[in-house]
Amino acid sequence: MSGAERKHYNFDLMLIQSQGSVPDGWGIYSWEVVNLHTPHEAIHLTGGVGRPIKKGKRKGRTTWRDMDPSTKMVFTFTRQQMAAFRKAWEAETGECSNCHGNGTECYGWSATEGERFRPCKACNATGKAPVDDDTPQGGAQEAAR
Ligand SMILES: [Zn+2]
Repeated sequence: MSGAERKHYNFDLMLIQSQGSVPDGWGIYSWEVVNLHTPHEAIHLTGGVGRPIKKGKRKGRTTWRDMDPSTKMVFTFTRQQMAAFRKAWEAETGECSNCHGNGTECYGWSATEGERFRPCKACNATGKAPVDDDTPQGGAQEAAR
């Protein structure tokens, strides 16, 4: 068990929610890349309204085994759209989307040691949104309107 609660954001679900509303309890249960390495490469996110598991090892997680098929929806995004959404999120929150603002990223797991973390390379372990080198540094650009 680790001490502090790590922040975690479900960017795929947030992207879907940014495009319109999905029902309460709706979640993604399948993630599939289609047309890999072609100009039509895209990611299919499939989800539905699941229900929380009440007992057993996976308690608290969601199962879609007996979901209502009418809640099934498939969303298609390009990698560029997904990357752009993370960039926009970073701009809005000032946090690093690779490590979710934690400064460390999970890189492995074992039964004896649990999750293993290492400093996040994207933000130099600061948890702050990485600044692009080609982005001009400096002041607000809202003055001229
Ligand atoms: Zn980071």
